[in-house]
Amino acid sequence: MEIRDKLYIDGSWVPASTTEMLDVIHSGTEEVFAQVSRGNSNDADKAVKAARAAFDSWSRTSIDERSKYLSRINEGLSARMADIATVVAKEVGTPFMLSQMIQAGLPIMTFSSMAQLATEFEWEDHIGNSLILKEPVGVVAAITPWNYPLHQIAAKVAPALLAGCTVVLKPAELAPVNAYILADVIDEAGLPPGVFNLISGPGSEIGEALVAHREVDMISFTGSTEVGKRIGAIAAQDIKRVALELGGKSATLILEDADLGAAISGGLFMCYLNSGQTCIAQTRMLVPRSKLAEVEERVAAETATYTVGDPFADSTRVGPLVSAKQRDRVMDYIKIGESEGARIVTGGAEAPEGLDKGFYVQPTVFTGVENSMRIAQEEIFGPVLSIIAYDTEKQAIEIANDSIYGLSGAVWGADKDHAIEVAKQIRTGQVEVNGGAFNPLAPFGGYKKSGHGRELGKYGLEDFLEIKSLQL
Ligand code: NAD
Repeated sequence: MEIRDKLYIDGSWVPASTTEMLDVIHSGTEEVFAQVSRGNSNDADKAVKAARAAFDSWSRTSIDERSKYLSRINEGLSARMADIATVVAKEVGTPFMLSQMIQAGLPIMTFSSMAQLATEFEWEDHIGNSLILKEPVGVVAAITPWNYPLHQIAAKVAPALLAGCTVVLKPAELAPVNAYILADVIDEAGLPPGVFNLISGPGSEIGEALVAHREVDMISFTGSTEVGKRIGAIAAQDIKRVALELGGKSATLILEDADLGAAISGGLFMCYLNSGQTCIAQTRMLVPRSKLAEVEERVAAETATYTVGDPFADSTRVGPLVSAKQRDRVMDYIKIGESEGARIVTGGAEAPEGLDKGFYVQPTVFTGVENSMRIAQEEIFGPVLSIIAYDTEKQAIEIANDSIYGLSGAVWGADKDHAIEVAKQIRTGQVEVNGGAFNPLAPFGGYKKSGHGRELGKYGLEDFLEIKSLQL
């Protein structure tokens, strides 16, 4: 078993204030495979003070120097790619192949893309007699969730460091081990003490201590809308900058003329990815009523190809959910869907056959769903799809937008220009048109209760910068 009984504060591995440890559970076997320190608010205070003390000199290092550190971190993570993919496959349940590509590959790419951006970004601007400078916000508290744990960490830590900010990271309790690997790599890269600090432990205690800390200048949070609201309210007391990446309930909108096979394949992939534990999961499929029966049939047939099982088995396309609590929550939603009058096309609220250990759920598809039902409105965070029929394109757009969330979505149609016109009417931060690939340099973030601020690429970097004008 892996034991990580220290926290990374001020450039060293130090004991936490408590000797208590947090178990980290293998979601496919239910065994404890690692333990990490349970820090407390005392540790949060130490970490923030270290980050504050490091800020002045770090913020004055050259952009070139900071970019070189990011390249070193990228190299260190690349060398540990298999380790990271293995750890996250255990923590989260992501099938190993996908874990390599996404859970390890994406954060590695984020560090290299930020290192590259250093030379391309416009760090200064001129407007009339003014010189516009972009300066680091200060001490950043990064609070992250478990579903794409290292990706969400990298999306904050890489741009914050490039901007010249110092960072205190508080990773999710359910998936903290990958963050320890990052701290090892950062330590080996030789970052000055205090520039990056890692403290693990409960969000209600450490997270809140960071958010309320007077020496923290910005909170960059990814997680649930509920916790995001609370963070926003606490941070407002000190007028701290807050970036929030929250939940979603995204729609795959299949237009009348769409290639049905491609649209269904694309939509299902984006629904079942990471067992549906994806904030941009496309969990509503909007289809022309005339095609409903055909869609139901094809969706059922294709769902059968999503083999559920051990994240380390080659045949697995859907791994377990992250925890017993998450599994139970998803199964409850399946029961809620049935009680609301939706009809199950495939799947159900029973564990998949032969999988008695591990937090497994069957990919489940509902049809006859009204968009007002809870299964169409609430984020389930599991492999559960709601098929919703529409009569007119206008109605389809209204249904897509009839959500408290505004994170993502997709439009499929044979006439690409028309599909783009429809995509423009969807009130979300990103929309895929005909399966357009995820772009790790494009801005990522939400409208409405999916949050504010943007991550990744140059827009992600801007979140960590203050803008100053010098009048000359
Ligand atoms: P969560 O909100 O429960 O926890 C997220 C982080 O916040 C964890 O590190 C947790 O310890 C911490 N936290 C909990 N309570 C806190 C508090 N009171 N103060 C400060 N920090 C606190 O979310 P989760 O269950 O880890 O993740 C799932 C949620 O995250 C889903 O709703 C999902 O949609 C969302 N998510 C959003 C994005 C995005 O980019 N929009 C990406 C991934 C996940």
